[in-house]
Amino acid sequence: MSTPTVARVEALPFRLPLRGTLAWGAHSTLSAAEHVLVRVTLDDGTVGVAEATPRPTIYGETPDSVVAILRWLEPALVGLPITDEAGLNRVRNSVANNHTARGALDMALWDARARAQGLTLWDTLLGPNTRVRVSFILGIDTPAAMLAEAERVVEAGVRCLKVKVGRDHTRDLAVIRDLRNTFGDEVQLYADSNETLTPDLAPAALAAMREAGLTYVEEPLPVRELKSRAALHARGLLPIVADDSCFTPADLARELSFGTFDILNVKTARNGFTDGLAMLRAAAAHGKCGMVGSQASTGLGTLHAALLSTQVEVTEPCELSFVLKLGDDLLDQPITFRDGWLDVSSLRDHVVNPHKLERHLV
Ligand code: MG
Repeated sequence: MSTPTVARVEALPFRLPLRGTLAWGAHSTLSAAEHVLVRVTLDDGTVGVAEATPRPTIYGETPDSVVAILRWLEPALVGLPITDEAGLNRVRNSVANNHTARGALDMALWDARARAQGLTLWDTLLGPNTRVRVSFILGIDTPAAMLAEAERVVEAGVRCLKVKVGRDHTRDLAVIRDLRNTFGDEVQLYADSNETLTPDLAPAALAAMREAGLTYVEEPLPVRELKSRAALHARGLLPIVADDSCFTPADLARELSFGTFDILNVKTARNGFTDGLAMLRAAAAHGKCGMVGSQASTGLGTLHAALLSTQVEVTEPCELSFVLKLGDDLLDQPITFRDGWLDVSSLRDHVVNPHKLERHLV
């Protein structure tokens, strides 16, 4: 039997409603999940799927640009054997940037490769940690709304909150105090500053965050402030999570050589499985901790992020609960959480429901 080859690559924009707007950083917001289903079909009829999460303010991608770049790549992919990982990666890496388009393409190819062998990603990618601690991204809102949303997701089984901060430091600390008072030690809290601090204010801000009981801070300073970031990390005030500074394997190599962080946040949405696994391993080889971010993925992207989260290099809670922010999903079954954990092995049979996809296509 000959090896199946890539026959078609499709990109289908869809739109899912959110329960409220997610706001972060200096001025980014998300009021609906306007994402793209990437579908790779092989010449034997095998289909692999993944979710692209274009983020105009982060990566400069839009649903239309995801469609365009995959249309651009398709002719070079068609005819390649699904087992030719080197050849497929060469094509995927033949364009720069376009992180979520290329990340989703990688994951759809992995999915198709597993299915062509009569397997699923749960057979080829599930790691040793089949239960994973989860975190929820608490966006910037009024203090009352943030507390109400936190109570809702804790009720739904979340025990770690990543609190988006950075528009008003005093107010941020007040919200964090409220969260701490409400949940006590039952809920782990950390902050994502999304590059909003300045080198002169950051040391005191991190010390205050530590005082407030936060366990780490994600990307406190602008990525361009490389020297200041390395100096801040060297002071050891609070463990630093690298996100915006590590979009790619090349970014990670730079950050490792400058010593800027303690925990790597790898996002399957922008790195796929191929680069995501390589980045986790590179960070662990340098003694770094690892977590997996979701890029506000809906259910399908969450399944894939969850699979990467089961790898041995992942040591911290992972952002796998954004589905709690969705008004609807494409999956046929809900993803549920218990006492802070997600049982990834229980998601094996979750699939995209074709009727729901039809309903939400743009
Ligand atoms: Mg972040």
